[in-house]
Amino acid sequence: MSSDPYIRKTCRYCDTPLGHPFLDLGTQPLANNLPRSEDSAKPEFHCPLAVVKCEKCHLVQLTHSVPAPLMFDEYLYVSSTTQTFRKHFAEYAENVKARLVKKDRPLAIDIGSNDGLLVSCYEKAGMRGVGIEPAKNLAAEANRQGITTVNRYFDNEAVTEVISKYGKADAISANNVFAHIDDIQSVCRNVHDLLADDGFFVIEFAYLVTMLEKMFFDMIYHEHVCYIGVTALSFLLQRFRMEIFDIQEIETHGGSLRVFIQKKSGPRERTAIVDRLLREEKEKGCMGNQAYADFAARVFGFKQRLNQMLDKIKEQGKKVSGYGAPAKATTIINFCQLTPDQISYIVDDNPLKQDRLVPGRKIPIVTSAYLNEHPTDYVLIFAWNFAKEIIAKIDYLRTKNTRFIIPLPEPTIV
Ligand SMILES: [Zn+2]
Repeated sequence: MSSDPYIRKTCRYCDTPLGHPFLDLGTQPLANNLPRSEDSAKPEFHCPLAVVKCEKCHLVQLTHSVPAPLMFDEYLYVSSTTQTFRKHFAEYAENVKARLVKKDRPLAIDIGSNDGLLVSCYEKAGMRGVGIEPAKNLAAEANRQGITTVNRYFDNEAVTEVISKYGKADAISANNVFAHIDDIQSVCRNVHDLLADDGFFVIEFAYLVTMLEKMFFDMIYHEHVCYIGVTALSFLLQRFRMEIFDIQEIETHGGSLRVFIQKKSGPRERTAIVDRLLREEKEKGCMGNQAYADFAARVFGFKQRLNQMLDKIKEQGKKVSGYGAPAKATTIINFCQLTPDQISYIVDDNPLKQDRLVPGRKIPIVTSAYLNEHPTDYVLIFAWNFAKEIIAKIDYLRTKNTRFIIPLPEPTIV
């Protein structure tokens, strides 16, 4: 496989030729490849970052594909980092268990299991949990913790290996993975093969409609290849003899969907929410072009307003730091072309990210102890989906006259 990025000529869901992008965020570095401080002079990999909508199935997707090994072999995102995620996955595992037909030690498989947090929750809920994770460092760490993890991409061979070792799956989950895999059609084929006939497949992804309505353009980065709506997803699943039977609207990433899928003519009734969301997507113009043109215009307006705010603060001789260096921070920082002059440093609680730099703009990433010792006048919360948790943690800084900035949907000082 070539390690060069390539232009995606056809739709990832339906193979229809793709037209022109509706939003171009420019050429950007990979959002999660954070260079080490000592490597600041080394050139970084860059690739165009733009989104296009398929005219046939209406899937919103990136114009370019970056080969997966460049992005996922050493992955720095660790899901157990936050309390919010730990609670989220414990609830998730119970939710999966409650919907299972088989009650005696059912097999639950998590694709893209990261550090194994959800797999361990499956075990705690009384299921047999198995993770499949391509990142070597994360899979090795999970196995060391006693969380069964198969270190591979979710391909044909992974399916064969899992079935021969553990049997067919009663439940398969894939969270914030479904939107990240370029060849999603083979994922669907493999899920169909791995799933027991009365089993179900559950996926969670940041919802396209939320991105459009709340202006969460920072969820656009190279790893995140598709921006999924129910319309496009139903179209894709139909091609692989599967169907949506239920959907939950959840708060992760500011507004995500948890979608439950079974094989065609599976044992579960379809709930009313599926048709409601399909209808809403139509009413909100997700199948047309205007909603996307409006979104793009608002994104460029945001860039201007954030820069104006930060420049004004700088003119007053005040300093700004950032909090949280998730992938979305790389997108905002590079698209808005923010500099270490505007954002002195960024705090991240994940030790794997500390002593590294924000890709492209080279803003240093530090510990929260550093923020305590070098408080700034403002802290911009890049990990805005954890704003409540973060502000609670650093609220003491208000006594030093620090104020907080929430970037989206509009840069706001709180
Ligand atoms: Zn399509």
